[in-house]
Amino acid sequence: SKFVVGLTGGIGSGKTTVANLFAAEGISLVDADIVAREVVAQGSKGLEAIVNHFGSEILTPEGELDRAKLRQRIFSHPEEREWLNQLLHPMIRQEMLAQVEKATSAYVIMVVPLLFENGLDRLVNRTLVVDISPELQINRTVKRDNVDASQVNNIISSQCSRSEKLARADDIIDNQGEISSLKREVQALHQRYLQLSGTDNA
Ligand code: ATP
Repeated sequence: SKFVVGLTGGIGSGKTTVANLFAAEGISLVDADIVAREVVAQGSKGLEAIVNHFGSEILTPEGELDRAKLRQRIFSHPEEREWLNQLLHPMIRQEMLAQVEKATSAYVIMVVPLLFENGLDRLVNRTLVVDISPELQINRTVKRDNVDASQVNNIISSQCSRSEKLARADDIIDNQGEISSLKREVQALHQRYLQLSGTDNA
């Protein structure tokens, strides 16, 4: 089985940016957000189970999952949210591991925004946290998504704290500087992960 690095960090910290730099080194990515969409895509077992549970009014006219409606339905119903998590979390875990095994690179970067919150750090060999201050998280996310600072702040508060993430990280990337220094940090970690995955002298 493969050497897996779990890449995480708060909203707007730079996970996607960092993941793309690893991909540029030839490393395969498994992205939890993409997998979470795949397991409820049209024709999936996940979508079938959701329709059986909530009824076909949970679909858009095109037959896709109506995410806004689903969010509404579980918003004030913790037991429905729990049902949905019990359905989807094992499917997402299983599909992520399947994609890891299919990957062909020396090691795999698994991008998981809620790695610690959802206990997915148990699936990886090593954790890598992208770190920036809450102020920069807000600035960059507001700029990217054109949303309110207060909305970003609410999301930051709902996620595991900066200090807890740092305490639990095996490796940390400081992304408060320029992209050029981020590149150098990624290249150094890439060398280290090649060594750790035992492929530099295999
Ligand atoms: P989310 O969890 O919200 O999806 P993320 O952790 O994937 O976010 P990115 O989308 O990679 O974060 O980065 C957030 C924003 O900050 C993007 O617009 C990105 O281009 C920008 N950004 C990332 N790193 C830097 C940097 N070092 N300097 C300036 N801007 C940056």
